[in-house]
This record gives sequence, C-alpha cells and structure tokens, in this order.
Amino acid sequence: MSDQTRFLLNETDLPKYWYNVMADSPLPPTPVLHPATLEPVTPDFLSVLFPMELILQEISAERYIEIPEPVREIYKLYRPTPLHRARRLEQALGTPAHIYYKNESVSPAGSHKPNTAIAQAFYNKAAGTKSLTTETGAGQWGSALALACNFFGLDLEVYMVRVSYDQKPYRRIMMETYGAQVYASPTERTQFGRSLRAKDPESPGSLGIAISEAVEVAATSGGAKKYSLGSVLNHVLMHQTVIGEEALKQMDLAGEYPDVVIGCVGGGSNYAGLAYPFLRQNLKGGKHTRFVAVEPTATPSLTKGVYAFDFGDTAKMAPIVKMYTLGHSFVPPSIHAGGLRYHGMAPSLSAFCDAGYIDAIAVPQVATFEAAVAFARAEGILPAPESAHAIRAAIDEALDAKAKGEKRVILFNLSGHGHFDMGAYQAFLRGQLEDYAYPAEAVKEAMKELPQVVAKS
Ligand SMILES: *Cc1c(COP(=O)(O)O)cnc(C)c1O
Repeated sequence: MSDQTRFLLNETDLPKYWYNVMADSPLPPTPVLHPATLEPVTPDFLSVLFPMELILQEISAERYIEIPEPVREIYKLYRPTPLHRARRLEQALGTPAHIYYKNESVSPAGSHKPNTAIAQAFYNKAAGTKSLTTETGAGQWGSALALACNFFGLDLEVYMVRVSYDQKPYRRIMMETYGAQVYASPTERTQFGRSLRAKDPESPGSLGIAISEAVEVAATSGGAKKYSLGSVLNHVLMHQTVIGEEALKQMDLAGEYPDVVIGCVGGGSNYAGLAYPFLRQNLKGGKHTRFVAVEPTATPSLTKGVYAFDFGDTAKMAPIVKMYTLGHSFVPPSIHAGGLRYHGMAPSLSAFCDAGYIDAIAVPQVATFEAAVAFARAEGILPAPESAHAIRAAIDEALDAKAKGEKRVILFNLSGHGHFDMGAYQAFLRGQLEDYAYPAEAVKEAMKELPQVVAKS
C-alpha cells in the first residue's frame, strides 16, 4: 500500500472546461424574477449589472463551457491545487476512515474565490467594462476580485461588511495592495447605506446590505460600472467546478473514490465546485456518494430556513431567486466565519437539498474552532473559520466511522486558510469565543418580509 500524502497534477491536467450541472440536473430550473415586477427577468435588466457572456452562462443548458485561454493562464499561478490525504489527522483521531482534502488555500488570495474572480474579470474586460463594484464579508472575495481586476486592468470598489472591516484590517490592506478601493458597509456613499446609518449608526452590516450598496452603485452608474458577485449564482458555481474536476482525477491517482463529499456553505460556491462533478457521477455514472453541506448554527439557511422566492440582497434591488432563505432582512450574528453570514443559498444547491440529493447540517462556532485547531496541529495548515465547518463535519464522519469500525473514504474542501483570522483564533484560545443561539425571533420577523410570489409552473 502506498503511503503517498499529496496527489498532484501537472499544468497540462488543468481542466479545459467548466461543468454546468444544470445540463444533468433532473430538477427543473427555477426562474429568476425582477425585484420590482416579480416577473421573470429579461437579459436587459441583468445587463445593467453583468456582461452578456456571464448572463448567457447563468441560463446555459450546455454541459461543458470552455475555459478561455487567458483565464487558464492565470489559473496556472496556483492550479492545479493539491489533494492531500490527511494521514496525520487520521492518526490523531485513531480512525479507520481515509480523509482527503482539496487544498484551495494555496491560491494567492488564500481561498477558492479567484477561480470565479479571474473568469468574471476576464468577461468584463472583454465586454469593455472599465470598473467593477462588489461586496465582501470576511474579505476573501474582495481580495480575490482585487487580484483578478489588477491582472485585467479594471478598477474595483469593494463594500466590506463593517464587522469584518473592523476585525480584519489587513484584508483591506491586501485589497488596496492589488489596487482596489475599500469601504466599510453600510457607507455614506449610497442612498441605502445612508438610510441604514441614520437608523443605526452602529450597524455591523451584513452581506445582504453590502450587496445592496454595490448593486446600487453599479445600477446608478449609467453603465460605467458593473457588479460582480462571489457566490450564489449559477455561473459562479460553474466556475468553481475546476475544483471537483481536478479532485476526480486526483482521487483516481489515490486509487479511491469518496463515500462522502463535504464542504462548508455560505452562498454555496466552494462546495458546489467540489461536489457537482462528483454529483454528475451519481446522476450519470452509477456512483452512490453521499453529499453533506455544512453551515453555521448562527445562519442556518438550509437546516432552518424556508425554500422560497426571496431577494438576494437586503434593499430588494437584486433579483429574486428561489432558495433556502432566512429572509433578506435577517442580519446574522457576528460570527467569525464572515464568509458564511448570508441569508440565502445558491438556487441550484437549494434545489438539490430540497429534493434530497444533498444533505445539510449545522455546526456551532466553538466546536468548529476545536476542529480547526485539531486540524492545524495535525496537518499544519491553519484553516479559514469558514473551512473549519467542513473540517468539523469531516472529523465527525471519521469518528462515526471509527465507532462503527468502518473504512470510509471522506473528501472535504479546504476552501481557504485563516491567516487573516488571528483575532478569531485568539478569542478561541483564550476561551472568549461564544456559541450563538439560533436567532429564532429575528428569523421569524424576517420571514414576514418574503416577497409574495405566486408560484408559476
Ligand atoms: C467565501 C468563503 C466561503 C463561503 O462561500 P461559498 O460561496 O459558500 O463557498 C467559504 N470558505 C472560504 C474560505 C471563503 O472565503
């Protein structure tokens, strides 16, 4: 038996195509609705925010979409990423399970997010866009898009959720190093931001609010600026499938196939990126892998939300999609996994969860950091607090396999490293980290504001 620890691909193995799961999904696509009329959106409405090529990808039924050569050239700065067998973690747990992780923390921005940022910057540049706006939670998405905009010579305005802006000043400096402008959201720069700050000058912000600001700036720019989203949308999830396509080849190198594929979910992109190519093998290839999406108990959209049409943002300017949601006006507790503080979930992932193709679980903050520290001590990598949710679930799977005396093959996505999250680690190590109770009352209030969409078949 080989004792190989990392499974590496060559540059020549870099995927040439993204995988569009919609081509194989047995579930009908759900419509995207206009936030004011509640009618299906026209490409005209979306083209205020996005370049046409991305709109076409959003609604595409093509199974494979070719990755443009300039995008692949930049991917080569960090792709293919390694697949690791977590041998030392297995030993520490004393489990017969085999634990694998795909290491997306090796990208220059420290997460999976450049996989779509580079693609989005490319298509915007090709369409003549000069300037982009976006939101960022923990700063991972803003860093990734700043990196990508720099490569393609685009200006970038980043609306950064205030609580993260305060917790992570160095993420902001990283974005500025790549040449972006960064603002703590809610800001005084938008009508929506000013209205919130008039009511609550101390607002910690949320991804939903920051999205509203970035969308408002693009939508009122007279075409000068476009908007870029780091998760949730079909085209974003599709760009992330390079993760799973590589992992399929690497599991092959390891001579194994996963019984369970695990990932953390904020908007769903890193998990879909790993999971969808394996889901294809379930749908078309006769495989029987189990899929587990992991979210924080503080923002449990999949496990406690409703599957309904809702706005993508707090100000009701972004399109309405059908998804698991806690309500667009829900402001999540200030957990350290800023990238998971979103009220909704990607429509495709929501549909797969609703139909039982993918399971969801929620894990609390303190147990998540216990897993992060156990992983750091065994494997050496300090994971992002977001990724630590996947690690918690992977460890629990491995312990369950141990209890049952089963050899189980577990694959999870290490979506990023936590080098900018030392404040969170410090709080944990000093015993100052808290669990948040499920914010039932806040969710109940937010549910009252769901748009009244009459179901259309
Ligand atoms: C943004 C982020 C996430 C959550 O976003 P998804 O779209 O659900 O992937 C998870 N992990 C890391 C490291 C992130 O930066």
